[in-house]
Amino acid sequence: MGNGKSLGAGRNLQGIKQKRKEVSVRNGNGNQDLSAVATLEGRLEVFPEEILPVVHRETAAPHSDRLAEIVKLLLVELGVDVANQHFRETPERVARFYREFAGGFCVRPETILKTFRSEARELVVVSGIDFFSLCPHHLLVYGGRIHFGYIPNGQIVGVSKIPRLVHALAARPIIQEELVSSIADAFMSVVKPSGCIVKAIGKHDCVAVRGVHCPAVSMTTVTKRGIFEQERLHVEEFDRAITEGQRCVR
Ligand SMILES: [Zn+2]
Repeated sequence: MGNGKSLGAGRNLQGIKQKRKEVSVRNGNGNQDLSAVATLEGRLEVFPEEILPVVHRETAAPHSDRLAEIVKLLLVELGVDVANQHFRETPERVARFYREFAGGFCVRPETILKTFRSEARELVVVSGIDFFSLCPHHLLVYGGRIHFGYIPNGQIVGVSKIPRLVHALAARPIIQEELVSSIADAFMSVVKPSGCIVKAIGKHDCVAVRGVHCPAVSMTTVTKRGIFEQERLHVEEFDRAITEGQRCVR
């Protein structure tokens, strides 16, 4: 057993050495460019900032060609004839899809939530916001509706800014539980209301099309901040407003 293990490790090391060889380049003096090797060595490990949902990250490296190559490799590994007419542009299309869904890593809430001064101190509810996100465990789509409420404390935001914030923060692989928290925290940090509440009802493809195969199952996540954590009446008023919003016709 011990031999098998070390053999596997040896093979892995060989693979790493091979990779190093592939990208090592020579500079003008004919010497090996160590920075290129160092970069690849770095790519062999996953850095935490690449997998964690960092909302305020300033930039996302636009390695679109590399992403398309990865998708192509996935198709080849699945036995797909990538030269077939239906697959020829698929790697680029899928790469674009994942780029779109990773845009949320660059979101800066303060650029979305333009505020206005206001004396309003009553509950504001923006409900029925359709959303889609990616499950980080399976990279499958989930989505549904998000309902948002807040009680202003000197500042309000335009009604369209709430769906914009939801869509921006949902555009990345993030679990639904943390999506609602990130929306609430972003709103609290920029608008500074007395409190806010976020409810998401989502259906997950990873539950519907694989594993337990239960397409009817939905998951509800609720997060509360400030006054909503202490005052049950505000939560009840929020829930009634959601129901009324669903009946609204025009
Ligand atoms: Zn999943």
